[in-house]
Amino acid sequence: MKLTVWGAAQQVTGSMHLLELDKYKILVDCGLDYERNTWLEENEQFPFSPNEIDVVILTHAHIDHSGNLPTLVRMGFAGQILCTPPTADLTELLLLDSVNIFLNKQRKKRKGKKEFSSGPKPLYLHKHVMETVDRFVTIGFNKSFRINEYATLKFIPVGHLLGAAAAVLTIDDEGKQKKIAFSGDIGRKNYPVLTDPESLPEVDYLVCESTYGGRKHRATNTIEEMLVETVNEACVKSAGRLIIPAFSVGRTQALVYSLNRIFSKGLLPRVKVFVDSPMATYATEIFRKHHHLVNAEAQEFYRQEGDEFEFNNLEYIEDMEASKAISNYFEPCIIISSAGMLEGGRIQDHLFYNIQNYYCTILFIGYCAKNTLGYRLLRGDPIVTIRHRELSVYATIKQTDLLSGHGDHDDLVAFVKQQDPQKLRRVFLVHGEISSLESLKEALVIENYDAEVAEKGKVYFLE
Ligand SMILES: [Zn+2]
Repeated sequence: MKLTVWGAAQQVTGSMHLLELDKYKILVDCGLDYERNTWLEENEQFPFSPNEIDVVILTHAHIDHSGNLPTLVRMGFAGQILCTPPTADLTELLLLDSVNIFLNKQRKKRKGKKEFSSGPKPLYLHKHVMETVDRFVTIGFNKSFRINEYATLKFIPVGHLLGAAAAVLTIDDEGKQKKIAFSGDIGRKNYPVLTDPESLPEVDYLVCESTYGGRKHRATNTIEEMLVETVNEACVKSAGRLIIPAFSVGRTQALVYSLNRIFSKGLLPRVKVFVDSPMATYATEIFRKHHHLVNAEAQEFYRQEGDEFEFNNLEYIEDMEASKAISNYFEPCIIISSAGMLEGGRIQDHLFYNIQNYYCTILFIGYCAKNTLGYRLLRGDPIVTIRHRELSVYATIKQTDLLSGHGDHDDLVAFVKQQDPQKLRRVFLVHGEISSLESLKEALVIENYDAEVAEKGKVYFLE
């Protein structure tokens, strides 16, 4: 069989791996690659014919793994998409959001330019998302699913996001049995709401993510300790407001649950909490729907205290009027809103009104890519532009990596080390910046693994 890494090769986004058997082609993930400015056009070019692909396996819902599926369908892919039930639901939500982002980009250009010119053409539309969702076939964790006479699939939980899985394939390659695993993104232990990553079975080949290769999570305290300290400083001692930019799917639920635990234990006075993101509300419903998949601690909390994502002083904000009204709320409060990198979304309103407020703290809990407002604030820019206005930054800026959904260097090495180096024939490293990939490779080679940084488009023959 042959493996070709077509995406997330020597970069983070655009996961897409092609596994070719004698008479069958399997694509693992089909993510958006948004590394370059020309990404909209680039994602329309597949290095193979979409109608040649027999089946897609989707590891999890994040858009860098799922976001180009509707393009694949639009361009002729006619097979099924295999994923876990939460991944199907969360992917639908995230793909529909992608369409809205595409349409906004198009409209913005229209406003800025002449009346008749249009912005970039959307990569796909709602109807393509619905056609994609129609192809989903859901498979529970740890169940063997026979794809056909050549291939059997098992999804193993890896934490990271509700529904996220490593895909383990058992292949009959001309009479010879081979196992190959695709890690997807690997989460970390003791993450709020999510279960810990589970062990993989022994495999012959492993395609492994490397996001945090060479980097370690710095913080030594827990998420709850960090939140108690930050909320105390921002909202109790100085009666100000705490703004937390957070992705609506995953991070927001982890935050809400952690705050719920803190308040129910009486570790903080019940400061008002606003979750200002309609998408977070929908995503929370999906978490409730698949409640049996949350970790044992959250299950126990549910039995003792009730809904993990609901408490007295919490308000989910739906419409714009209510969102704007938060500006007139003068009591101390916590505002959780998207987008995480501060590019667009309702968070921009909250920053616009609060960035010049000495009594405001902004807590960053996720990665901010270069050229985003979040990046500029974290860099310490004294003046930033929001909604075409230059504003001085008087708010306090804080950052933590405690809520990162990725395991760090040690977690990645431990993940691979579950495999016997004598039996694992090769590890292909993907989904990382060059320095991360090289650091992880080096660490694995020292441990006697045959590890290599996968090259885009190179065909690897898996004997
Ligand atoms: Zn991910």
